[in-house]
Amino acid sequence: MTLDEQLSESSVHEHDRPDWNATFIKEKLVNYMVHDVGKDPDIASERDWYYAVVYFVRGVLSERRIRQNRYLRDEKGRRVYYLSMEYLIGRNLMRTVLDLDLNILLREALSEFEQDLDTIVACEVDAALGNGGLGRLAACILDSIANQSFPGMGYGIRYEFGMFSQSIEEGMQVEHPEHWLRHGNPWEFEQPNVKYRVRFNGKILCFKDADGNDTCQWVDTKDVVALAFDVPLSGHKTPSITNLRLWSARATRDFDLSYFNEGNYVEAVKDKAVSENLSKVLYPNDSTLRGQELRLKQEYFFVSSSLQDIMERFKLENGDIRQFPKRVVIHLNDTHPSLAVPELLRLFCDEYGLEFDEAWDLCRQTFTYTNHTLLPEALETWPIAIMEHVLPRHLQILYKINHQHLKEVKHRYPGNSTILSRMSLIDDVSKRVRMAHVCIVGSYSVNGVAELHSRLMQAGMFKDFKEMRPGVFTNVTNGIDQHRWLNMSNPGLSALIKESIGDKWVSDLPALVELAPLADDAGFRRQFHDIKRANKVRLAQLVARKTGVELDPSSMFDVQVKRIHEYKRQLLNLMHVVTRYIRIRDGVENDMVPRSVIIGGKAAPGYHIAKQIIRLINDVASTINNDPAIKGLLKLVFLPNYNVSKAEIIMPGSELSEQISTPGMEASGTGNMKFALNGALTIGTLDGANIEILEEVGDDNIFIFGMTADEAHDLRAGGYDPTLYFEKNAELRRVLEMIRDGFFCPDDPGRYSDLYNNLLFGGDHFLLLADYEAYIACQKQVEATYSNQDRWNRMAVLNTANMGKFSIDRTVRTYAENVWKVKPMQLKR
Ligand SMILES: *Cc1c(COP(=O)(O)O)cnc(C)c1O
Repeated sequence: MTLDEQLSESSVHEHDRPDWNATFIKEKLVNYMVHDVGKDPDIASERDWYYAVVYFVRGVLSERRIRQNRYLRDEKGRRVYYLSMEYLIGRNLMRTVLDLDLNILLREALSEFEQDLDTIVACEVDAALGNGGLGRLAACILDSIANQSFPGMGYGIRYEFGMFSQSIEEGMQVEHPEHWLRHGNPWEFEQPNVKYRVRFNGKILCFKDADGNDTCQWVDTKDVVALAFDVPLSGHKTPSITNLRLWSARATRDFDLSYFNEGNYVEAVKDKAVSENLSKVLYPNDSTLRGQELRLKQEYFFVSSSLQDIMERFKLENGDIRQFPKRVVIHLNDTHPSLAVPELLRLFCDEYGLEFDEAWDLCRQTFTYTNHTLLPEALETWPIAIMEHVLPRHLQILYKINHQHLKEVKHRYPGNSTILSRMSLIDDVSKRVRMAHVCIVGSYSVNGVAELHSRLMQAGMFKDFKEMRPGVFTNVTNGIDQHRWLNMSNPGLSALIKESIGDKWVSDLPALVELAPLADDAGFRRQFHDIKRANKVRLAQLVARKTGVELDPSSMFDVQVKRIHEYKRQLLNLMHVVTRYIRIRDGVENDMVPRSVIIGGKAAPGYHIAKQIIRLINDVASTINNDPAIKGLLKLVFLPNYNVSKAEIIMPGSELSEQISTPGMEASGTGNMKFALNGALTIGTLDGANIEILEEVGDDNIFIFGMTADEAHDLRAGGYDPTLYFEKNAELRRVLEMIRDGFFCPDDPGRYSDLYNNLLFGGDHFLLLADYEAYIACQKQVEATYSNQDRWNRMAVLNTANMGKFSIDRTVRTYAENVWKVKPMQLKR
């Protein structure tokens, strides 16, 4: 039997394998348990079963991967390579089981060993190789590439320590290292033969070669080896997978020889460990990066190994390097992989002997770039001094690119030196390289992640580039994976929807709109409400388990979960909570709806203000939750260690989704989409994708408040003075004075004076005071609506029904058609 026959023999789809049954799967599991886990099935633990089950489904994915790679090798078509420093995957088992349609059979097989799939699934540690939205998007995109059979592959870093886990001690965030590989990662295939040398430091020798051409060599480098680990990700009921290749750093062999021969064994082992540090830890900063050398090395390690691998594959299929851009598109997820631009140019020039002009031309036809943020402090730049030391050849190449680029700028704007220095790849004042500019000049497509963000990007930060190359800029609004964020995580609601309109929506989310007429059906609304109620109970149990705080499931669940950042304005949310607290104590409102406010999210470990905000939330929570005057009208809780698996419980159990960022600052948001898909109503600003959610659900079904991005811009430009708002509004004044004077921390009354001063005298850059009144008024409207449960439920149904646009499948299809120009594979089942 040929391998191909064997593979198709062991083809796995339940539909084309009617003989697959629980007995067959049971035998498979025993096999994996004995041969791979190495345990006796009679006494195996839940975690042992977790491994056996993962090995089984991974085997199915491996067969698909092999078949797909054969197809691709034969087809020699165009492929997309997605480069991202972050993938916030979470747990992978349940989604894969559902994708492979093995849910029922697996449960049956496991029951013979008295094992329960749900318990086994919970043994999985979240793969948290990302910070927040950006990494989560990358994970959704890979899933959707498989869902739609696009010929794509992801590259990333196999961080040994992913996103830290967060605990709260005495109200404060404490970070703990997350050694997620402690028990190994059963999903991955180590590929010992796939390894590349990555070079650092050294010096450049330039000379004329035999033909008289200028040639440069990068010599005396310090080298590290990148070793590949493959994680195949399933598509939903498709025969295709997406391979995620993660790089792990290893010391080189020469390292071993030269160092160990000197006889200082222990020192040598220590140095060896240092070179393996490159893939040790994910930088836990969302949006901002300080210019640390290790981070730059990480970025280059990732880019260099990925490009070598892409090159190898290209060469196997095609001898002519000039065909490269026809076959290869490389997507840069934010600027983190921006060194790919000078690196590819270096490979073309130094390794393949192309002339600079031709090489640069090929590069610019290869890359596409997604910008993720407009926050100026988040724009990645690297000090020239560090670049010169770590990547001397790349700095030379960047100078050369810049020379070429500025020539074009000069040609277009003769005699305009302001524009020249604005558009330069190098900031001459701070002596830093602007990585976003490198990405823009190196790419044939640049996109933002929501309509507003793409517009602001083209009108502000990148205006000059837009004028020079208008056709390059475009928008691709983010989306979420409905398989994970509804079908898997909200089984109750999914079942109700399937009963009502079938399951077409699982692979075609816009089909959800068929639910819309049911919003007027009282019976359906009742069922929808009952499911929400059950999910609230589940969320309340999670909260009680993690914090000891008991929430009343009949109160309104008002939730804000996301990274803690000033622009996301958790503090504004808290100011509303304190306002309500004051009103309850004063007895000024008698129609108040009981509310439970849940806030969660991690702060970057070096972000002092964000950590103060967490502490204040906890101080306010313990004051309110212990005050008998509250009489069940208000609770506040900080849910620690927000991550993907918690999000899967939070979204279905939420009723009000807080999306209250300063207008113009949230690029898109995807949390907003997850909540709305699960029937939570949004209270939000006209920011990011909130605007598109508003367009989809209609202004009757969402609570929008505050100014527009343009108004926010104008307010700042006109000299914004937060103290005016403070003076005008007595309630706001009281809220801020309570915080300032230590009402919530009587033992240490000065604790939050910094936070207060920052708002009042530090310019309130995020416009909390300006938006306070509108926000409080809008919350009042939320309550009035909630008091009419029929009305609320109707709105909730219409939110779920109108989320079709926000499927990641639409996002990825748009990338494939408009940006990457790739077509789906035609794989046989
Ligand atoms: C979706 C998600 C995010 C992004 O949330 P935003 O509200 O868009 O910032 C961050 N972290 C996790 C764990 C998520 O699931």
